[in-house]
Amino acid sequence: MKNISDHLGEIAGKRVLLRADLDVPVAVGRIAETFRVDRQKDAVALLRANAEKTLLISHTGALESFGPILGEIKSILGEDIVFIETPDAIPDFLVGESKVGLLDNLRRWSGEEANDPEFSTVLAKGFDAYVNNAFAVCHRDHASVSGIPKILPAYAGPVVADEVKNLSEILDAPSEGKVVIVGGAKSSTKVPVIKNLISGASFALTGGVVANDILKMRGVDIGSSRVDDNLEQILAGLDIHDNKLKIPGDWVQQENKILDIGQETSNGYAELVSQAKLIVWNGPMGLFEGGFIEGTRAVAQAVADSSAKTFIGGGDTISAIHKIGIPLEKFTFVSTGGGAMLAFLAGETLPGLLALGFTKG
Ligand code: ADP
Ligand code: MG
Repeated sequence: MKNISDHLGEIAGKRVLLRADLDVPVAVGRIAETFRVDRQKDAVALLRANAEKTLLISHTGALESFGPILGEIKSILGEDIVFIETPDAIPDFLVGESKVGLLDNLRRWSGEEANDPEFSTVLAKGFDAYVNNAFAVCHRDHASVSGIPKILPAYAGPVVADEVKNLSEILDAPSEGKVVIVGGAKSSTKVPVIKNLISGASFALTGGVVANDILKMRGVDIGSSRVDDNLEQILAGLDIHDNKLKIPGDWVQQENKILDIGQETSNGYAELVSQAKLIVWNGPMGLFEGGFIEGTRAVAQAVADSSAKTFIGGGDTISAIHKIGIPLEKFTFVSTGGGAMLAFLAGETLPGLLALGFTKG
């Protein structure tokens, strides 16, 4: 994998497509959390200074178009950015005065998610190189992720390089003192991480729906708590009686539903966290949006206070940490990837990284 920072000479005076990550949450017409856009600053500055032209391409899941948040994006990434509403307008941008552009939401065109080679060709036309700075989509086989690198020389941007370095550190660290914390919902994306990491870790601590699934599988009466439909399939291959696998022993319950881990479980988890050397955490311990935040608060505080290297990720995990009021600087590394982080930690091959020539192991 070629890191663009080490190959700046190769893009001097060239026209570069930058697969950026501007997929931010939006509330009442404004960016609710700018951290993903903030993380694009380095790559944009690097290309603005070295390339002749830079076209940012990204999707947004929150809006149809970048239009309503363009002003905010420009105030973070540069007022010189011109908005390009459709791929048809790219040739004009390439011959025009403007140095930096942003194409509208890639997912407005079906070729993006279908990974249509024709769409990749349209995007790549007139460009000399491609930089992927969107780690959060690297688990997607989309045109802007794995299609364009088949056409143009491809480089990893600083975000992708940094994510790979940090997440690799989690995989490669010695098992002694490694603590994996997994909560939240969507167990099908979370349990593979436990399966991949538990043998090389001291403990895996669980909360949220992931823990509900395991409790149910162990025959505990969890009432009408939220569980995954196909939990047997999801948990297949995980030893649910493994001593390293910690599940809640008490919980906060309402209307016959487990909605958070209990006080004793929180204390026990905090104790294990305090002894850790490396911690990776993805997924809230409870339904924090509904006010069941104490378990997540206890874990967040313990992780933030720990002297270990701490790695966190997940959209809801980060918003819970915001809600609790812990600054993100308290953690060693905050991943921009939700699904991509989980896929990487589960040991999967990510199409976007493979396209950059990254193969693990
Ligand atoms: P992340 O975005 O950090 O990866 P997820 O999307 O997997 O996290 O999960 C977060 C969601 O899980 C939140 O909406 C949260 O309310 C929900 N959740 C956590 N614990 C429970 C629970 N016990 N019952 C129902 N929902 C829960
Ligand atoms: Mg989420």
